[in-house]
Amino acid sequence: MRKLFLLPLILLTLFFSGCGSSSKNSADVEPKAENSSETKTEASSKDFKADLKITMLNVGQGDSFLIQTSTQNILIDTSDSDERSKLVSELDKAGVTTFDKIILTHPHADHIGGIEKLLKDDKYTVKEVYDNGIASTSKLYQNSVKEVKAEKIKYANLKAGETVDFGGGVKFEVLYPPQSLVKDVNGGKQKTDPNNESIVGRLVYKDFTMMFTGDAELKVESEIWQDFDEKKLKRRILKSGHHGSRTSSSENCLRVVNPEYVLISAGEPTDKRGGNTYGHPHLEPLQTYLDAGIPADHILWSWKNGTVVIKTDGKNFSVTPEHKEDWVKSWIKEKKKK
Ligand SMILES: [Zn+2]
Repeated sequence: MRKLFLLPLILLTLFFSGCGSSSKNSADVEPKAENSSETKTEASSKDFKADLKITMLNVGQGDSFLIQTSTQNILIDTSDSDERSKLVSELDKAGVTTFDKIILTHPHADHIGGIEKLLKDDKYTVKEVYDNGIASTSKLYQNSVKEVKAEKIKYANLKAGETVDFGGGVKFEVLYPPQSLVKDVNGGKQKTDPNNESIVGRLVYKDFTMMFTGDAELKVESEIWQDFDEKKLKRRILKSGHHGSRTSSSENCLRVVNPEYVLISAGEPTDKRGGNTYGHPHLEPLQTYLDAGIPADHILWSWKNGTVVIKTDGKNFSVTPEHKEDWVKSWIKEKKKK
């Protein structure tokens, strides 16, 4: 029954939301003279004045996305605990030290790894922290929550149906987890499964949408997308679920989200513990993306393509990878050999 109520709830929260604050510290999001690797998505060659910038930070085998609206800086996830130096250098590169909001999708180390650094280092200011509200035994998680409370930083939990105001007309609609799941896991009725408790949300700015999927897997995807009104939005980008793992990116997800670009945050494949020992991105999701009609050069992997910057005015958007590398076909070929 819950799914039947989800959409009206989201629409309602769009009307009544107002949990955001604004500040003037957001970085300049004016489009600069673009480099040659930029892909414009409108037929027109005219420049547009971007007022939303989203950066997939190149942080190895973890996730961290920086969102800069006209009034706020937001981070969704904070890299892996042993990749903090990459997070710091990526933030230096972006010139950002103040975060109006940090959203931690779930308490695995490759998503919350950098939060302690951001909280403890005087160089950074963190104003609000959000997570899914599911108690975790992870030391890293517990220490971070302790630090948030000690520093009297605003701390809140996000549940399906809520909307977070990112400022400048940009909203983040939370699609997962539902309150009932949080209650059942915290109450011991259901065993915890952190990937499938990830905060999943849709960033919306006018006609532009980007799906943030944490490490949510197929069962969450099927719950979210089953009854979703896919005609609601036009320009779309998908953050590949679970670092491009075969556990995510169902055909149905691709059909509903219908993305023009897919961004995969995963590190250099390695046998070393703590790194990309999983062989991400897997063959199956890549094949699903291609089968869905996404061109190979619209599938961007942080290890191959580096930092990826998206700029939009809510209608036009540009996607600029640091390195323009055509890796998909050769990667698939290599995977098929194994
Ligand atoms: Zn992860």
